[in-house]
Amino acid sequence: MPSLDDVATARLARARDEHLLRVLRKSTRRPGGQVARPGMELISFSCNDYLGLSHDPRVIQAAHQALEDYGTGAGASRLVTGNHPLYDSLERLIAQVKGTERALVFGSGFLANLGVIPSLVGPGDLIVADRLCHASMFDAARMSRAVLATFEHNDLADCARVLETKRPRHGRCLIMTETVFSMDGDRAPIVELATLASEHDAWLLTDDAHGLGVCSSAAAEIQVGTLSKAVGGYGGYVAGSAALIEMLIQKAHTLIYTTGLPPATVAAAARAIEIIRDEPDLVEKPIANARAFTEHLRRPPASSAIVPVVVGSAERALEASAFLEEHGFLVTPIRPPSVPPGTARLRFAFSASHHPESIARVAALTVDRGFA
Ligand SMILES: *Cc1c(COP(=O)(O)O)cnc(C)c1O
Repeated sequence: MPSLDDVATARLARARDEHLLRVLRKSTRRPGGQVARPGMELISFSCNDYLGLSHDPRVIQAAHQALEDYGTGAGASRLVTGNHPLYDSLERLIAQVKGTERALVFGSGFLANLGVIPSLVGPGDLIVADRLCHASMFDAARMSRAVLATFEHNDLADCARVLETKRPRHGRCLIMTETVFSMDGDRAPIVELATLASEHDAWLLTDDAHGLGVCSSAAAEIQVGTLSKAVGGYGGYVAGSAALIEMLIQKAHTLIYTTGLPPATVAAAARAIEIIRDEPDLVEKPIANARAFTEHLRRPPASSAIVPVVVGSAERALEASAFLEEHGFLVTPIRPPSVPPGTARLRFAFSASHHPESIARVAALTVDRGFA
């Protein structure tokens, strides 16, 4: 067997040759959507903190208070002694904004998917997933040991075809999609998928990671999401019926066998969701800014706060990102395997704090250089 370091070094060399090497860069996020990197102050189009709530003084104050009241850590799993009182307020708020009976908070959106999906289906069952679902949903599907089938992105006819051919041979069936696709910014036909689900005796799970706080979608039976994007903090959740939530408390390994979130994190998320609930004018801004950008690009209006500019090769995506960085804009390149090969892209994420001039300028640079 080759040595561990030889294997690692060979893999790194290959990634570098293919322009797929990933690096961690020191980044200091500042209020107002700026990011400082060594020697640079950049206007960021790569943060998922769509409403700037991670730096909102009211949210910070709520976190401070929780630190004072409850200390830094939960101390145990939620099922032991980690279920501090702040969880209850947060879960009520999530259920309220989602319009469900109950909600259940997990350590992150990734952990919510890993806990929920294998609790719903197992060996002998079928998962039918949009091809562009998030990695956490596919990892969860594999963990469940259900049969996994995919349908073409947002293609209802293909989803129906998969259900017709595969559904009859399986026990339970779970259809999975995202409300807003994280790398494409387009939205799933939730109402039509819910109809397909009921016609084929299946459950529908949606991941609303990029929806909450930006745009609302029709409700699915099982609604997963994150507290790490527009909510501005960290954590994940599932919203649904009381029976679903009670069942997940019995079954979800990523709830049972892991420590509760720090109290300050839970308090911050609760305060942020109150702001999302109470300030519709704020919530409208990221999409309005995304639409200003698509207008500059002479494209159809954005349907979320995410606008991809597909450039093709990983090398070209790196080049485009480096060019924008020279001009003071942070737009990270998204390369395979995060997106299918040949569709590397600049992913623009718009926030409430972007100014019209920066949007116009970054659009002009993108177009003038022939990237869009
Ligand atoms: C970001 C994201 C997640 C992961 O959420 P975290 O809270 O960051 O772990 C899951 N699903 C989708 C669709 C996402 O975009």
